[in-house]
Amino acid sequence: MATSAPPAEVTADRTSVFPRDLDWPYPNIDRGAGVRLYGVDGSEILDACGAGAMVACLGHGRRDLVEAAARQAERLSYVYYHHFTNELQEELGRRVIDVAAPEMARVRFVTGGSEANEMALRLARGYHAERGESRWRIVSPAQSYHGATLGTLALSGRRSLQHPYEPYLADHLHIAPSTGRFDETGSEALAELDRLLEALGPETIAAFVCEPVSAAALPAYSPPQRFWDGLAERRERHGFLIVFDEIVTGFGRTGSWFAYNQLPLEPDILTFGKALGAGYAPLAGMLCSAHVYEAVASGSREFEHGHTWDGAPLLCAVGLAVLEALVDEGLVERVRARGPALRDELEAAVGGHDIVGEVRGCGYLLGVELVDPRDGESFLPNDVKAAALVDATALEHGLLVTSSHSAPDGFTGDQTLIAPAYVATDEELAEMVERFAASISEVESRVKNALAASSGT
Ligand code: PLP
Repeated sequence: MATSAPPAEVTADRTSVFPRDLDWPYPNIDRGAGVRLYGVDGSEILDACGAGAMVACLGHGRRDLVEAAARQAERLSYVYYHHFTNELQEELGRRVIDVAAPEMARVRFVTGGSEANEMALRLARGYHAERGESRWRIVSPAQSYHGATLGTLALSGRRSLQHPYEPYLADHLHIAPSTGRFDETGSEALAELDRLLEALGPETIAAFVCEPVSAAALPAYSPPQRFWDGLAERRERHGFLIVFDEIVTGFGRTGSWFAYNQLPLEPDILTFGKALGAGYAPLAGMLCSAHVYEAVASGSREFEHGHTWDGAPLLCAVGLAVLEALVDEGLVERVRARGPALRDELEAAVGGHDIVGEVRGCGYLLGVELVDPRDGESFLPNDVKAAALVDATALEHGLLVTSSHSAPDGFTGDQTLIAPAYVATDEELAEMVERFAASISEVESRVKNALAASSGT
């Protein structure tokens, strides 16, 4: 019986899957090789964003990772962390701490970023409880994304994501930058943190959670040095924990093993995800420093939290193979060395456009902020839908990037994130920049036309 060819794009009316956006025609992807994805119709997409979620740091179709997974699946794919450990988990734990995070004492592996952040929340509260303190409030930046579970959604300050789930969400606290433009000195954010500490009492604040360099919520933005110095000083004074969400930045994305390596402070708890599984296994985790571990070790001696697939040998085998590739191929060094030039190339290619406000970032985590071309400063009106326009136009140019809204309301502040695979060659990076520049040119003229039409000129 002849079967019809699968559709190149799938719309909500042609699938049994419950899509995220019922109005978006999803390209139907068949395979990947290196930094390219291929649709079922043979169309090619240059992947400048880790398959869309900053995940595929080693590119697609890597035989070494596939073979590591296959070997382990044959030997032992799964055992439950509650009853057992396994040598793959043990070895990955040792390697992660030795190679990437020697400042940290213990690690737990989970299967996704939201799970890792949930675990961090639980441990932060548990840490204080072990010490006889009943702290529960969490403070995080208003422009942040920490996950899709209800616990992590409450942390993610963006109202567009929280709505309409507010009744389910814990009442966590969010601080500036809240004006829609970023706090250049860090003093606005610190003043807000001080106001919260004073109004609510430091004895209620369990942790400050943030991304050291933001990803989708505020692409590639990192607060200035003075903010970090001030945050470290307040931790010292008030006894809350600092939790870094390095789900995106962990394992090389910003040109160091973790983004905190480039900051003047270390977190007490750290979460990672994305790059360690590299798209070949759902693998994420949480690291904590010795004093956090000791609170449990010298207290209840139990951290009761976990998920079915935590630390499974199949997943850890992939993590070990990814870590080996990162080390053997010098990829963190490559990102560190090549990142600044890549940012300059991006800036040179798109920085002159009226709709481009800023090109920023470090390593291979780069953000392009769009502005209203009429004043070169304000955010674009919502109804222009510039973020979606960039993604769609880039796809027409055969390029995958990820755009989002970065203002605290979560509806405005169009920004695009570019996060190439660490293994991309210079030629491939140049091609990404070239296709992005062509896309931005086109978006600019479409945006200008839309603005002219709406103002009747
Ligand atoms: N934290 C950050 C900074 C993220 O970007 C994401 C996902 O994009 C998450 C947490 C949640 O990770 P996951 O989607 O794996 O649950």
